[in-house]
Amino acid sequence: MSSTSTWAGTYTFTAPRLVEARTIDDVRDVVAAGGRVRALGTRHSFNDLADTTGTLVTVTGIAAEPVLDESARTVTVGAGTRYGVLATWLEERGWALHNLGSLPHISIGGAIATGTHGSGQGNGALSTAVRALTYVDAEGGLTTVTRGDADFEGYVVGLGAYGIVVRVTLDVQPTFDVRQDVFHGLPWAALLDDLDALTGAAYSVSVFTTWDEPTLDQTWRKTRLDGGDDVPARWYGVAPDPSSEGRLVAGSEDNLTPQGGLPGPWSQRLPHFRLDSTPSNGDEIQTEYFVERRVAADALRAVRARAPRIARVLLISELRTVAADELWLSPAYERDALAIHFTWRNRPDAVRALLPELEAALAPFDARPHWGKFHGMSPQAVARVTPRLADARALFERLDPEGVFTGAHLERLGLRDRRG
Ligand SMILES: Cc1cc2nc3c(=O)[nH]c(=O)nc-3n(C[C@H](O)[C@H](O)[C@H](O)COP(=O)(O)OP(=O)(O)OC[C@H]3O[C@@H](n4cnc5c(N)ncnc54)[C@H](O)[C@@H]3O)c2cc1C
Repeated sequence: MSSTSTWAGTYTFTAPRLVEARTIDDVRDVVAAGGRVRALGTRHSFNDLADTTGTLVTVTGIAAEPVLDESARTVTVGAGTRYGVLATWLEERGWALHNLGSLPHISIGGAIATGTHGSGQGNGALSTAVRALTYVDAEGGLTTVTRGDADFEGYVVGLGAYGIVVRVTLDVQPTFDVRQDVFHGLPWAALLDDLDALTGAAYSVSVFTTWDEPTLDQTWRKTRLDGGDDVPARWYGVAPDPSSEGRLVAGSEDNLTPQGGLPGPWSQRLPHFRLDSTPSNGDEIQTEYFVERRVAADALRAVRARAPRIARVLLISELRTVAADELWLSPAYERDALAIHFTWRNRPDAVRALLPELEAALAPFDARPHWGKFHGMSPQAVARVTPRLADARALFERLDPEGVFTGAHLERLGLRDRRG
């Protein structure tokens, strides 16, 4: 196939064949034809997770065909649909999702498969909204699993390890408005000594830092306007930036969602980036670790002690909270989490050289990696912090005994059995 790489160009897939499915039957035909198959979403992961020695299948070209069930409070939609497209569709009908990631361009199926999250102490990862999944199974048949079914929590953050998800049913709620306020230069002490209060001050709070600055670079508060929460005139002594156009890193001047306290629908305030613009920086590598919120301040201190070395390779870090859930492979499994994210300069060797030091610093806090991002953790280290890994592997092996959906990344981490 013509070479296909991840969105940021950090990995070039080795799969000899790429099929861009237009219908669910196209996906079924690929699986029924035999050989190894893996799903590819919008390619926003940074590593070889999706790769296969057989056929990559994208479901992003299958019609979204959203179906709203107002009485059940769900929407069912094609898994290849981008979050931003569904968000606009829902908003037009007066409905909302509980949260969104920073980027609205990412496919729902791919995001769910890796436990993608936004921020908010009360907000679970995007995967927690999944009520049901319909997937093409190892025989090429169509199977649906629904919340409440046996092992459902093993399917949702599924890494494409047991099938190709083609339809997803998500929880929805009545639409709500959000305002986004940006504070420059909050004191580090506000975060380190008062982490729960700072990160819990609004529906969704994100802290951006380069670790080496004297005060926190930016803190974004996304406040729900139906929740009775106020935005203070001063927060830890700092007034919000009145400008509606923010800037995160060079090149992000014209692609961020409106700030400056401008009220707007959830679909245009919860994501950091606008759907109609070039997302993020692109020329970058991402890494993210999840620690329990209870120990997060000490984890941040451990990272900050490496600030000079980190800053040399870093574009920006973002700190977000994720509510605990029961999904076996979720990075927030049974732990209220602080997600410590790094957007690195596109210097793979320098990033790889730094990760062991960073991971050693975070190991005492049982940090879990983001499945879709760069990390250097050994299989043993990943297994140590993933309590349901063996259960997930057993589920995937039972659903796919011949290893149709296995891949080198999954086998390396013990998420599928090793095959020849
Ligand atoms: C600019 C940028 C911003 C990001 N922001 C965030 C963020 O705010 N929060 C966060 O948590 N992450 C974030 N990410 C990471 C991203 O959300 C995850 O890597 C996500 O998995 C990417 O989804 P995708 O559709 O691109 O999937 P891909 O990267 O194409 O695939 C990822 C995995 O999902 C599987 N998969 C994809 N589609 C399906 C399907 N239909 N059925 C079964 N398995 C499938 C693949 O096999 C693979 O294992 C960001 C990434 C980028 C590039």
